[in-house]
Amino acid sequence: VRIAVVGGGPAALWFARTLKRAEPKHQIAIYEQNTAGATYGFGVVFSRRAIEMLRDADPDALAAIVPAMEMWDGQTMVHRDETVLIDGGGYAGIERITLLTLLREQCARAGVELSYERRITNMEELASSDLVVAADGANSIVRQTFAREFGTVQHSLSNWFAWFGVDVPYATHTLTFRSSATGRFVAHHYRFRPDRGTFLVECDARTWTGLGLDRLTDEHRKRVVEDVFAPELRGQPLIENKSQWRNYVTVTNQRWSHNRFVLIGDALRTAHFSIGSGTRLAIDDATALASAIAATSGVPEALARYEATRRPTVDRFIEAARASYLWYEALRDKMELEPMDLAYDYMMRTGRIDHARLRRETPKFTRRYEAHAIR
Ligand SMILES: Cc1cc2nc3c(=O)[nH]c(=O)nc-3n(C[C@H](O)[C@H](O)[C@H](O)COP(=O)(O)OP(=O)(O)OC[C@H]3O[C@@H](n4cnc5c(N)ncnc54)[C@H](O)[C@@H]3O)c2cc1C
Repeated sequence: VRIAVVGGGPAALWFARTLKRAEPKHQIAIYEQNTAGATYGFGVVFSRRAIEMLRDADPDALAAIVPAMEMWDGQTMVHRDETVLIDGGGYAGIERITLLTLLREQCARAGVELSYERRITNMEELASSDLVVAADGANSIVRQTFAREFGTVQHSLSNWFAWFGVDVPYATHTLTFRSSATGRFVAHHYRFRPDRGTFLVECDARTWTGLGLDRLTDEHRKRVVEDVFAPELRGQPLIENKSQWRNYVTVTNQRWSHNRFVLIGDALRTAHFSIGSGTRLAIDDATALASAIAATSGVPEALARYEATRRPTVDRFIEAARASYLWYEALRDKMELEPMDLAYDYMMRTGRIDHARLRRETPKFTRRYEAHAIR
């Protein structure tokens, strides 16, 4: 089968290396618009449980990736300058470009054809392929071309966010809430290298217009944020990498494929960054598609099998992500809660865990919360 993969992010590279290693007979070509050393964003975070599941599925890939990861346990929440530690749960952060470089090397070794600085603008460029895998991210050109056929639904959230880096190696994944005049901000920050962290800043729509952020330049906005989060930044400036402020756009599709075109990763659906699972979901889509191709003898059967096996899990994540972003969309009300109540409300936000499970997974935090709730 001649397979064209649009995009060179985690979904594309994972899919190509996995299938080519399992079935070298396929001719697989990746087309990525950026140069090999460029990407957006900084670091991404995985849960330790996700890492273990990936390791079971593909020990070779993980043997290269895990040494490049920063590991930690637990989370931290800071509200009204009070710190709440949430024990339990292991996490791993990795620089996005490092992850892509390791996967690209594995693709090249497996015999995948890699074309960088090649932006696909028209589906006719892919006419000679038997299968086109759309792994071209949240703004996928393939998905937009066939939006009606895929049944694409998009929705823009009202909060504003921007993704920065900072040379501070935070001990754990941390959520810091800050109020300033009429402003309500939250920063999601964690380390992904021994010397550097991701610093993602979010504010509600009232803050955006109330503080006049909508009328400022990016440089000015950066200074406002540096001021609001001065204690967390510890004198370091925010580092930019295509760090535009925007509203998060949720994407879902009623159908996952159309003729010889199939969607994976963020092109298929976005999972809000607050559940920290976008890269993991993209990788799992890629594994499912590669397995479906290896297990069937024709493209239509493979695409039907991919959707049938993968859809139930993806739908569950979409629900969890929805509950999570709605929590952040209510940031202003949530910040009226006391720090301990805010932390508990946050832990319960997706509806996927109940109090008994929380007690098992975060025993110290839950004990402190129970003592606080009785008072
Ligand atoms: C602010 C923010 C924070 C996040 N934090 C996390 C996190 O902590 N953990 C996590 O797991 N995930 C996180 N994510 C999500 C994660 O980045 C994505 O879910 C993941 O990158 C999806 O992988 P992908 O390969 O589907 O798409 P992408 O990584 O977006 O890759 C798509 C690729 O396609 C290329 N491309 C696009 N159009 C074309 C074209 N026409 N021709 C050729 N190439 C094209 C792009 O250049 C890009 O390289 C975050 C996302 C955001 C926005």
